Amino acid sequence: MTEPVRDATPSADPERHLFRTYRRLPASFVAGRGCWLTETGGRRVLDFVGGIAVSSLGHGHPELVDALRDQVGRYLHVSNLYHVPEQAEAAALLAGASGLDRAFFCNSGAEAVEAGVKLARRWGGAKEPAAREIVVAEGSFHGRTLGALAATWPRRYREPFEPLPAGFRFVPFNDLEAAREAVGPGTCAVLVEPIQGEGGVVPAEPGYLEGLRRLATRHGALLILDEVQTGVGRTGEMFAFQGYGVRPDAVALAKGLGGGVPVGALVARDEVAGHLVPGDHASTFGGNPLASRAASTVLRTVADEALCRNARERGRQLRRGLRRLAAETGAVTEVRGQGLLVAADLERDAGEMTRRCLELGLLVNAVGPRTLRLTPPLVVSEDEVDRAVGLIERALEADRPCSGPGGVGASPPSGGA
Ligand SMILES: *Cc1c(COP(=O)(O)O)cnc(C)c1O
Repeated sequence: MTEPVRDATPSADPERHLFRTYRRLPASFVAGRGCWLTETGGRRVLDFVGGIAVSSLGHGHPELVDALRDQVGRYLHVSNLYHVPEQAEAAALLAGASGLDRAFFCNSGAEAVEAGVKLARRWGGAKEPAAREIVVAEGSFHGRTLGALAATWPRRYREPFEPLPAGFRFVPFNDLEAAREAVGPGTCAVLVEPIQGEGGVVPAEPGYLEGLRRLATRHGALLILDEVQTGVGRTGEMFAFQGYGVRPDAVALAKGLGGGVPVGALVARDEVAGHLVPGDHASTFGGNPLASRAASTVLRTVADEALCRNARERGRQLRRGLRRLAAETGAVTEVRGQGLLVAADLERDAGEMTRRCLELGLLVNAVGPRTLRLTPPLVVSEDEVDRAVGLIERALEADRPCSGPGGVGASPPSGGA
């Protein structure tokens, strides 16, 4: 007779029963407030990763906590067999903020991209003859599901899982001439990130997105922007495309949208969204009441607390600080980014820097062998940015043999803020 499982077997290895799909740093957390996380051992660390551009309101934001508490107490889920008022509200807020019209809700960035791919194929299929090809950019990252992976550039991510869905054509990013040669009557969509995030925080150059917009329009193809990382205030605009002055046909969102609750969305122009009809696409969890309350609360709070402006100002301060380190130490070779999506190229190993910063009490992450990415919560304060720059400076100094006293810019993080 088998007994029901009651207790997990304790193990010294926290990954004993997990797939080994992640290389994790030696840290875990029990709580968070604003830009600070409390480690299991009680130490407080300054969070400049923000769960990879997810924790847009920081940790424990009272508006989000209250909204979620309230929703948990009401009802969590009913499915899309019924109207979901919370979902309709989140969609209306997205439409208002984006200047687009309709939202399809899902649960992740990859799924938002997948919805965009299916929308593009429906759109292209309505043309005579049918247009099937999606033009995508070298250096891109769109997610790990097979469809999103087919649009993702690094070969090492794709090759082990072939065959992948066909019909994706890569062109060099920021090369309008190459796009002109690739986009034609057989193109159903152009899909790019306005700022390539995982690719190392590489912004579209002025004129590039406008050029893609004109190309797509000329050939009756959709311009779909992947703003999974750049959306919802991250770049100092609600959506990065607003800073570039282009209007996409559809935009994929996820990371920052739920402030930590998994929620993704594809938002599109009315006429375009109409190409997906009942039966074409669905998600059981998509836009469920909890996720929708999270999205609505984040969108409202970003507006109410002027977090786009804070992202612009704190981002400028952060880049200024990093450029000072570049000038003074030479250990930083380039600083890029917009708003609070910031990268610093180092003349040393970025993985080693993330470990050193963690030791000093600062979370940062690497998006390349020598590229550090900083994506703190949009609520980050002037003092916290100064502290982060000071800790990065100390981390850079740590392995310089002759660094004398007096060069340290920040007090230890244990005092908190
Ligand atoms: C993170 C990311 C994705 C994938 O999002 P998941 O939620 O991990 O599926 C897609 N596109 C961009 C631009 C991203 O940064």
